[in-house]
Amino acid sequence: MKLEKLPEEFVQAQPVLEKISEHGFEAYFVGGSVRDVLLGREIHDVDIATSAYPEEIKDIFPYTIDVGIEHGTVLVLAGKSEAEHYEITTFRTESKYTDYRRPDHVDFVRDLREDLKRRDFTVNAFACDFEGQIIDLFDGLTDLKERRLTAVGSALERFNEDALRIMRAMRFASTLDFKIEEKTFSAMRERSHLLEKISVERIFIELDKLLLGSEWRNGLTLLIESEAWKYLPDFQDLALKKVLTELSVDFHFKNSEQAWAALLTRFSNIDVKAFLRKWKVSNEFSKYVADLVSAYELENWDLVSLYHFGLEKALLVDELKIAFGRDIDRERAVFINDQLQIHDKSEIVIAGKDLMDEFSLKPGPELGKILKTIEEQIVKNELKNEQIAILTEVKKMLELEK
Ligand code: ATP
Ligand code: MG
Repeated sequence: MKLEKLPEEFVQAQPVLEKISEHGFEAYFVGGSVRDVLLGREIHDVDIATSAYPEEIKDIFPYTIDVGIEHGTVLVLAGKSEAEHYEITTFRTESKYTDYRRPDHVDFVRDLREDLKRRDFTVNAFACDFEGQIIDLFDGLTDLKERRLTAVGSALERFNEDALRIMRAMRFASTLDFKIEEKTFSAMRERSHLLEKISVERIFIELDKLLLGSEWRNGLTLLIESEAWKYLPDFQDLALKKVLTELSVDFHFKNSEQAWAALLTRFSNIDVKAFLRKWKVSNEFSKYVADLVSAYELENWDLVSLYHFGLEKALLVDELKIAFGRDIDRERAVFINDQLQIHDKSEIVIAGKDLMDEFSLKPGPELGKILKTIEEQIVKNELKNEQIAILTEVKKMLELEK
């Protein structure tokens, strides 16, 4: 099969592939980009595989960077703009996954088939030459047509080698709207316990992509049915089922934070931050999600809560509430936000330093308390965010204390 029209990204990279072949080596587009072109989806990263060894690639191109030379990957800076660069990886095999997660070592090979054989699913194992000729050694085109994920070779062995592929299968089921071939699925079930050997960070990335996929319901359903959820830190299948049944059917998550918050609102007895610590996410992410979950518990926005969480979170939470069928006032968050004089304490027109000068105060708890009180009063619109008003109020406070 030949592509009728190469996508712009491939056309741009054509000279690179041609140059490699002028030197007597093979070079192909491989991986997700070929799959996505065939599906008519947007492509985001162009991977190139070649029979040339890394040193040979470096001899061909004047500007290269060793980005992962031990895995056979060289970054080639080619084309008109500096921004144009390609990851070119030597055909390779991976052997002996004794720890179920990373190959013990990779061997460079000259044969394309060997390279394609190590890839996870048939639709991820296409190669495409610079003229758009598709090389399909594992009948991936049929799977693509049937919108089906099938492991390359023995599914049981493939998940044994690398259990992350189980998560990847569910992720692609969500993002591509694919089903999973029967044997591949039963192997996923059988091998799901091996997920315990995979780092949570890598699982998180896949699960996160799953949640953001258009068919996240497919993905979560597979997570339940494969029983893989049992091997994810602190997961509760009941919560997953609730998300599936309680969220309105056509809902799509705006971002990761909202997706994880939605899940966590269905968990019972949950300490959001402790949960996310197990998933080793950043503190920033954890705090954001924890905020969304606690804001979800609020009945109505008021000045104080809106100031505390901010409009961005408020809107994400409102969207979730609506999607979970709660009857809320959709205009309220924006309305309340418009009434706020400040959205951050840095917007208060008077700073601690000004008060110290004006009232000969020293830095310390007393000053802190005064600033806090002023902030609160401004938020509640009990005090104008204006210099004279604030100074008058502080003066009153200090006199009262005497
Ligand atoms: P995406 O659209 O998210 O980039 P992708 O299919 O390109 O999806 P990548 O993680 O970028 O996924 O990997 C590129 C290619 O490398 C895959 O298409 C697949 O052929 C191969 N691959 C990646 N991870 C694995 C894995 N764990 N096991 C086997 N092959 C893999
Ligand atoms: Mg990719």
